[in-house]
Parts: sequence; C-alpha cells; structure tokens
Amino acid sequence: MSLVTRDVEILSDRFTPGFVLRGPVGGGEAMVLRSPWDGVELARVPTTTADDLDMVLDKARLAFESFRWTPAWRRAQILERASRLIEENAEQIARLIANESGKPLKDARIEASRGASTFRWAAEESKRTAGEIIEMDAEASGEHRFGWTIREPRGVIAAISPFNFPLNLAAHKVAPALAAANVVVLKPASQTPLTALRLAELLVEAGLPAHVIQVVVGPGSTLGAKLVKDERVNMVTFTGSPPVGRQIASDAGMKMVTLELGNNSATIVDEDAHLDLAVQRIVAGGYANSGQVCISVQRVVVHQKVYDEFMARLVPAVEALKLGDPLDESTDVSSLISAAEAERVRLWVEEAIEQGATLAVGGVDDDGRMRPTVLTDVTRDMKVCAREIFGPVLSILKARDLCEAVEISNDSDMGLQAGVFTKDLNKALYAAKRLEVGGVMINEVPTFRVDHMPYGGIKGSGIGREGLRFAIREMTEMKMVAIREMDWQTGGPPVDACAREPLGP
Ligand code: NAD
Repeated sequence: MSLVTRDVEILSDRFTPGFVLRGPVGGGEAMVLRSPWDGVELARVPTTTADDLDMVLDKARLAFESFRWTPAWRRAQILERASRLIEENAEQIARLIANESGKPLKDARIEASRGASTFRWAAEESKRTAGEIIEMDAEASGEHRFGWTIREPRGVIAAISPFNFPLNLAAHKVAPALAAANVVVLKPASQTPLTALRLAELLVEAGLPAHVIQVVVGPGSTLGAKLVKDERVNMVTFTGSPPVGRQIASDAGMKMVTLELGNNSATIVDEDAHLDLAVQRIVAGGYANSGQVCISVQRVVVHQKVYDEFMARLVPAVEALKLGDPLDESTDVSSLISAAEAERVRLWVEEAIEQGATLAVGGVDDDGRMRPTVLTDVTRDMKVCAREIFGPVLSILKARDLCEAVEISNDSDMGLQAGVFTKDLNKALYAAKRLEVGGVMINEVPTFRVDHMPYGGIKGSGIGREGLRFAIREMTEMKMVAIREMDWQTGGPPVDACAREPLGP
C-alpha cells in the first residue's frame, strides 16, 4: 500500500482565481466544506483513513531519522523561505482563512502577516537552540569534570489545531517543531483544513524534505484520538477546547503534551484608567473574529466610580460595529463558525437575561446571527461569565476597588491572560502579582499577543508555553554530557600538561 493524496476540489469562485490545492494524505471519503457565513459549498476535501494514518506515521518516523541531523543553518533557511512565501501569498491565504472560518477579511489579513512573522522568528530561533554549561565542580564529587547540556528534537510531533486561527495557530506548532529538527503530523480542525494544506504546500516549496510535514484531515474524535494514542508519536501539541484538552492528556500516555486551552478573559478598568483607550481596546479585543479568540475580552470589571462614564462610551462604540459577510472589506464582525455555536451563544445570553442580566446592546438579528452584544447586571455564576463564551458577548461587572476587581477576575477555573487599565504604577504592579494567569497586559486587553512572547495558561487554561523560543524548549529533550578531565597515562586526576604535576587541589 502506498500513500494517496487527492487534490481538493474547489467548488466556489470565492478564492483567488485559478486556485488549486493539493489534498491531505488519504483516500478517504471526501467531506464538503461550507461557508460559515451563508452555507455556500466551498470545497470537497478528501479525508485520511485509519490505514492512511498508519502509513503517515511510518513515513514520519523514517523522515525523522534523516531530518533530525539537518544543520541549523539549513533549517533556518527553509523557515525563512517559508516566511517569505507566506508573505508573497498573503492575500490568497487571507481569503482562504476568511472563506473557511468566516473571519472578517481585515482580521484574516492580519493573521496571514502574523503567520509570516511566526516563521521568521522560528528561523531566528533555530540558530539558538544550544544548551548550557553546567558547573560540575560546584559539588565536590564533580571536580575535574566539564559538563553541558544539548537540546535534541523529540521526534514525531502531532500538532492538533483549532478552527479560529487556521494559519497562525498551526504555525505556532509547525514552525518551532521544524526549527528544533522534529517532524510534524498536522491535524487541523475539520472546519478549516484548506489553510493548513496550503501552509504544507508552501513549506515543501521552501525546501522541506518529503514527509517532514504531513497533513491529515478528519474528525478529532476518531482520527485525532488515534494520532494522540499512537506510540510512534513523541509529543502532542494541542490548541483547542478544555474538554478535548483533558481527553488528550489522558489519551497521550507517557508522551510530552502541551495544551493551549480556553479562557473567560477578564479586563479590569480601574478608577484612574484612560477610558477612551480602554473602550477602544476592549471593543477590539471583545469582538475580533466575532469573539472566537481564546483571549477575547469576555468579563470587564469596572471600578464603580467610573462605571457610568465607561458604559456611556462603550455602548455607542459597540453599536458602530458592522456585522456582515467576511469577504466584505468593511465587516467588523461576522457569523460564528456554525449555526450550532450561534445557537449555544444565544441560549447563554437568553439564560443570563432570565437570571437578571440586562441587554445593553446587541442580541440576535433577524437572520438569527449574534450581533456584538453587551450584558450588564451579570453575576459571576452565570454561564456568560463563568464559562468561555467564545462569541461576540461582553459581560460587565462592577467592583468597589482594585482589590475586589482582582478577586473577581481570579474567580475562574481558567487563567490564560488578563488586562488592566490604570495609570498608577503601584496598582499595575499589584495586579501583575495577584492576577492568576499566564500573562498580564497593563493598559492593554488580554487579547494582546506578539508571536515571540511566552504564551500559555495556568489552571484549566493549559500546560506549557508557546512563543517560538519557549515552544522550542518544550519540543526538545535535554541531554546532559559530562567529560572527565584525566591524565591519559594513569587514568587519575589531570596533571599540568607541561610540568606533569597534579593540577590544583
Ligand atoms: P476543539 O477542541 O473542538 O478542536 C480542536 C482540535 O482538536 C480540532 O482539530 C479537532 O478536530 C481536534 N479534536 C477534537 N477531539 C479530539 C480528540 N478526542 N483527540 C484529538 N483531537 C481532537 O476546539 P475548536 O472548537 O476548534 O477551537 C475552539 C477552542 O480552542 C476554544 O475553547 C478556544 O479557547 C481554544 N483556543 C485556545 C487557544 C490558546 O492558545 N490557548 C487558541 C485558540 C483557541
């Protein structure tokens, strides 16, 4: 049996003209991909069967045996070329993202540009994977020994990515894995395989040898689970929802696992905050990609003294956002990934209102689409606060002071990032120390990220860090090497090479 790939059948003219795409590995039944915005058929994508996956993993192991010895300069060159190719194809990639995920085109363009930057950083970091010198003689028994660590690739890395950043979240797994000389089997979300397939094509064009990256397409519950459990896989790097993350942690056995999961991100607006800046950033961070970002602003905790003033600025700014077709240049917010997700968000909002929340702006439009929404009079136990909403809905809470605001923010079983708006340095430092999250953004929303910074959560938000340098640490094994300094003739302690006398005490 040999590996089969069939081209993706493009069914719509919404992509760039003449667009063709090589398929995933596998001859399984094709699935039809539809636009989340209006249900139009976009493409027919072949899927990967269990037998196909078996062959993929054999090829991956074989590819690792040679790719692991690829010198750093060569890996850097391939990654740098990949970055350039993403830049050159940015518009085509942005349209792929917008079509398959429903992300507004202007956000999709930002994602394409960040994807290029992630690969550029990986190229840089691939030259800096060295270990460290260990002071062996810090312990008496370590005298006359010289020691250092080296970082070796883990092997075959299963990269499982979500639908909401089809390029850049795949890039955050693939780029550091390759930088550290691993090979990758990438399983994108079933809703968004096209961008991942295009990325793999560009990597091959950039010079990556055969089978160093392979893309498999199929359901997470079967294909994804099989990949996670397979003994030929050395590490699983996963971004997605908390329940699936927990399942993967239990399925993976002894493999290294990193999990980037969800959040119900809090942003604190203190009494001395720059309100215009806070409102502008909260609107950007709450509604980008229709709130389907793991670090979307979800809970806004406002000091009681500035609450009314804050709301008076927030509501018109949210009302001004335009809900529309993702391919329309002027669209700010589009549809959610599926009708089922829109229905879930609608039900959570309705339930909150039944429990006493007030709809300040938004709600469902005539076509059943979720408009940018703000809820006030919410309580912490309502689903819209306590769970990850993953939709265009902000919940506004009031706090007596910063201490209470921090306490409210920490009242969550997740902890990815948080934001604080204050002009007071002491308060900023207080919040930075007390907030229980993986990242604190001062005078910024939790949604802020540059691609080389360490990024990841605590509590239910996950295990491990992404961001190129930090991901490379997770994707390499540390090996300790120690050399005994000795006299070659006697086998005893070293002697001064000139005087042939014992060295030092
Ligand atoms: P999801 O968990 O439904 O799916 C993510 C991926 O896991 C998909 O490729 C899916 O096919 C696969 N999968 C599903 N079940 C599996 C299983 N049993 N074994 C192996 N793989 C399986 O997530 P989604 O709906 O695509 O994305 C939304 C979620 O992702 C949100 O919770 C969001 O917060 C989270 N997210 C987190 C980050 C972060 O960096 N922390 C970034 C983006 C999204």
